[in-house]
Amino acid sequence: MRPALLSLVVLASLAACGREPAAPSAPPAPPPAAVDAARLTAAASDGANWLSYGRTYDEQRFSPLKKIDASNVGQLKLAWHYDLPVDARAQESTPLVIDGVMYVTGSWSKVFALNPATGALLWSYDPQVPGPTDINACCDAVNRGVAAWGGKLFVGTLDGRLVALDAATGKPVWDVRTTPEGSRYTITGAPRVVKGKVIIGNAGGEMVVRGYVSAYDADTGKLIWRFYTVPGEPGKADGAASDQVLESKARASWKGDFWKLGGGGTTWDAIAYDPKLDLLYVGTDNAGPWNRAVRSASGDNLFTASILALRPDTGEYVWHFQTTPGESWDYSATQHLMLADLSIGGTVRQVIMQAPKNGYFYVLDRATGALISAHQYVDTLNWSKGIDPRSGRPIDNPQADYSNRHSLFIAAPGPSGGHNWQPMAFNPATGLVYLPVIETSFPYVGVKKFSEKHLAWNTGVDFNAGSLPQDPVIKAAAKAGLKGRLSAWDPVAQKEVWRAEAGHPWNGGVLATAGNVVFEGNAMGELKAFGAADGKALWSTSTDTGIVAPPMSYEAGGQQYIAVEVGWGGAFGLAAGELALAHQVNKGNVPRLLAFALDGHDALPAPPVLHRAALETHPELGSAKVVSDGKAIYHQYCGTCHGDTAVSGGVLPDLRYSAAASDGKLWQSIVHDGVLQTRGMIAFGAELEPAQIDAVRAYVVHRINESVAEAKK
Ligand code: CA
Repeated sequence: MRPALLSLVVLASLAACGREPAAPSAPPAPPPAAVDAARLTAAASDGANWLSYGRTYDEQRFSPLKKIDASNVGQLKLAWHYDLPVDARAQESTPLVIDGVMYVTGSWSKVFALNPATGALLWSYDPQVPGPTDINACCDAVNRGVAAWGGKLFVGTLDGRLVALDAATGKPVWDVRTTPEGSRYTITGAPRVVKGKVIIGNAGGEMVVRGYVSAYDADTGKLIWRFYTVPGEPGKADGAASDQVLESKARASWKGDFWKLGGGGTTWDAIAYDPKLDLLYVGTDNAGPWNRAVRSASGDNLFTASILALRPDTGEYVWHFQTTPGESWDYSATQHLMLADLSIGGTVRQVIMQAPKNGYFYVLDRATGALISAHQYVDTLNWSKGIDPRSGRPIDNPQADYSNRHSLFIAAPGPSGGHNWQPMAFNPATGLVYLPVIETSFPYVGVKKFSEKHLAWNTGVDFNAGSLPQDPVIKAAAKAGLKGRLSAWDPVAQKEVWRAEAGHPWNGGVLATAGNVVFEGNAMGELKAFGAADGKALWSTSTDTGIVAPPMSYEAGGQQYIAVEVGWGGAFGLAAGELALAHQVNKGNVPRLLAFALDGHDALPAPPVLHRAALETHPELGSAKVVSDGKAIYHQYCGTCHGDTAVSGGVLPDLRYSAAASDGKLWQSIVHDGVLQTRGMIAFGAELEPAQIDAVRAYVVHRINESVAEAKK
């Protein structure tokens, strides 16, 4: 504990409450979260603080602090830990640190203010997101952080609200709904604030929604502008900033009644801003549904899977670059957008960089959107045959279009992407982008007949046909093909300079520091430090729980800290089942915030021991036909959360071990009636008959028996 800093925090909160005046000798404490345009624009040189999601408007996640460097990082120790009082879901937040207070979010959009020197809780806020909202969240009940401006914090909630909090107390100042009531949108991404406007997107690319991004007045919560990323119903203008450009550039790229299924193109993560060019950049999601035959028989389907440049004051369109025209594989371009000035061919270019899911690393001119270069960053990629350097368009592989053939195409990358939401980092001294790469593939099979579901994903892809075969040879091959690594990428030469294999595909985001260290956590529950220039392993510590969040750095009491949230989960952890567990050794899933320093003296308590009785053979509950029907229903309704082939990836309950598997009444009360819906397990009775729900149980029991047999081999 550092008393000097603690007293500053106490003084700050007392002053805010208007109680006792500060002692005359104490320096005046700044008001909490006093962030404005000048501070955000100058954030690069403000090493003590971390003022916005990506640290700076250019989203480089580069800390100028260097008390911790390559020579001493080996002595880094735990300084404090805070057990987040939230569900054991993925914890994806980047904490902000502003003038002696840390602001961080946890699962279900909860917000916490902590003392950054001690981890002591100052206040917390629970937006009371209804449990059934979880069915609309593709990828866990997650939140990636808050934005700060003028004494307020802003959080987007899973159920589609934008809430402004008084940074001194955590009390709501305003609370506005940003998505239509009853719709399937969610919000997981962190807002940004540009010139007093809170920019917020939304998610739902698998849920039949139409993507858009909005700007709200930070003072009042009033909507200032909205930009829809895809056209709506013909002849019906939205009265939005996007009206004109959607008609002039986007509508002709769609066919048929696409608008009835939303079109996708949500804006669930990446936002960046260039104050000099006054351009706001937003990345858009996959087209929806994935299967293009279901969505729009042909066409590029603008502005899905694209980078958009907009005017932050009005939402006016300036340029777009589409990474994946006619997108069909969940290849979102919502991945991290990073701005930098790079010397390319002897000229300093103002660039925007992205490694979207589709496996190519793009470098664009951020003033015009013109392609400078694009290069494959994954080892395995087969959906296209390269990028045409003149048009920026992928060179088609006709085999990759599974839409009308109802036959399998195993595409690489898969829906997790070559890179997902986990942020990259940049070190201006090395000129390298540090990128968490995923090597995956996925079996895409188009559905024979599509009908919209309200309690399942709507992709037009048959997840049952693509579920993991139980043939041990195929299983082993699937596991061997899954890899993850930290890749140090030279964006000028478009080549990898070094790589550090991670042993699992689904790992954490990245931090780079002026101490020439790169930090990343991984699925196995390790936080690691690497040399920025050569990738040399410099330090590693066990965090017990798997990490997906990015580390960040700040200064408190004159000391540099590295902080990271731990808590494993997210899309891959939920849906990939046995493949998610393949290399994972985390012993439980304890949501925490950890802070490390050179003179740290804290230690984690012993990790919880997981007691799970061995599976025992059950009597089969139905014929092969019933089990087969149950398997199909399972992979449409259950597998995206409880895991492919009824094996949990370690986040939500593994149904093979559920007491309800051997209790038909309990099973119906949970699945049909929703007795656990406050925890996110909704009532499926609205869309499934009791007999269908029993068939799912018959399939789960069959899987128990298969698992018992496999364990005996
Ligand atoms: Ca998606």
